[in-house]
Amino acid sequence: MDYDGPILDDHLHLDPVNGRVVEAVEEFADAGGTHLLVLNKPSWSLGVEVDEADDFREGFDLTVDAVERATEVLDGRAWPVLGVHPALVSQLVDRGYTPEAARDLMCAGLDVAAEYVSDGPALAIKSGRPHYDVDEAVWDASNAVMRHAFERAAEVGCAVQLHTESGEEFGEVADWAEARGLPREQVVKHYAGGRTVGPMPSVIARKSEIEDALDHGRPFMLETDFLDDPDRPGAVLGPKTVPRRTRWLLESGHGDAVRTAHVETPARVYGIDTEATLTG
Ligand SMILES: [Zn+2]
Repeated sequence: MDYDGPILDDHLHLDPVNGRVVEAVEEFADAGGTHLLVLNKPSWSLGVEVDEADDFREGFDLTVDAVERATEVLDGRAWPVLGVHPALVSQLVDRGYTPEAARDLMCAGLDVAAEYVSDGPALAIKSGRPHYDVDEAVWDASNAVMRHAFERAAEVGCAVQLHTESGEEFGEVADWAEARGLPREQVVKHYAGGRTVGPMPSVIARKSEIEDALDHGRPFMLETDFLDDPDRPGAVLGPKTVPRRTRWLLESGHGDAVRTAHVETPARVYGIDTEATLTG
């Protein structure tokens, strides 16, 4: 590939308990990838049962470790994005929590994530709401959790990645962030389609969605949502996908979109410099 700039996967998981971690990062790097945002896996997938705020730390620390190992094999670097998976609300309710008690525990988990941003290695916070149907009390609790994430992110000065239901129209959610002092461009819709309205789209790296995003004309980033789960190898895109799609974009004359996705948008959203951190 006749391109020696940065290539960022904006959302992938490394599973330090069950996964391949460094091998997966090497695949990404061999394909030309340079930078990664690594999301902590849901607490339950790491075998962690949470009942108080400090219980979130184990999953966060495991992710921070995996990020350090990833950075060792990258020409650029990796950063952790830490937070509370929105589906935790259902796990807690199933275990006997009221929606309100689940909300409070999840907000406390986000406070810990914000602490890892302000005092530690994390770059951003992850929040959102369930992608499946839930009853009204759980939906209200989930929206309250998401708004709490916006509040904390505004305080510590970082972006929020959102895991939500599918769809395109998220203007109201971006308004909630703005009302709490978080600029809407620091709200990132993870697993986005190409026509997302409201937050900054982190487009899932399928050709059809990327074509939609090019048509739509707004800035976007690219991600795989790679799970690093040996039991579900085909569940999402593999670690080589963002470098491959980047090559395809360059070959089809979209050098501008490549620069926007891998340099300019990450700088605006997260305040990171993917060029200065490239040593390759
Ligand atoms: Zn994910």
